[in-house]
Amino acid sequence: MARTSPNIIVTGTPGVGKTTHCEALAEKTGLRHVSVNQVVKDKQCHEGWDEEYLCWIVDEDKLLDALEDEAKEGGCIIDWHACDLFPKSWIDLVVVLRVDSSTLYDRLSARKYPEAKLQENLDSEIMEVLLQEARDSYDEEIVVELTSNTADEMESNVERVEAWLVQWKKDHGGE
Ligand code: ADP
Repeated sequence: MARTSPNIIVTGTPGVGKTTHCEALAEKTGLRHVSVNQVVKDKQCHEGWDEEYLCWIVDEDKLLDALEDEAKEGGCIIDWHACDLFPKSWIDLVVVLRVDSSTLYDRLSARKYPEAKLQENLDSEIMEVLLQEARDSYDEEIVVELTSNTADEMESNVERVEAWLVQWKKDHGGE
């Protein structure tokens, strides 16, 4: 059955502002913020904790099973630093957030990331790893790159996605 509400991925390197954007978007649009990190933890979709990188070692098959019903229903704003695992058929819009290196450095330092993890994430942002992953995984026209250095940029990003949602609903026979 076709979705009556779209699924959106908000992706990007850790620290770019995914969670902040997803929370603001959920509040403005009524769509559900799906924090993949939380799902991984709550539904045990992992094979343990990586002590070096301080993150869960995700079991992608379990994660997809855990998300499938919600994704089929639609109306999810998926918050995750990867996007290539989600089937194309689930996803209507991919927002890739970007930040300047100095801003990202400050945000990740504030989180007290270990040096190796901080450096890896800075490199990943500079090399546009997540943007490339999004472009490789989804049709070009549904991938949008937005900057998230300032509160003003975030506000305009949220407005832009809200406008996109209104259009999506019109195009799909809604209000
Ligand atoms: P992510 O979910 O991508 O790891 P967060 O949403 O947790 O990133 O944001 C990381 C930090 O950066 C938070 O302290 C948040 O308040 C701040 N932040 C995020 N986006 C912006 C922005 N556009 N302008 C200013 N600060 C931001």
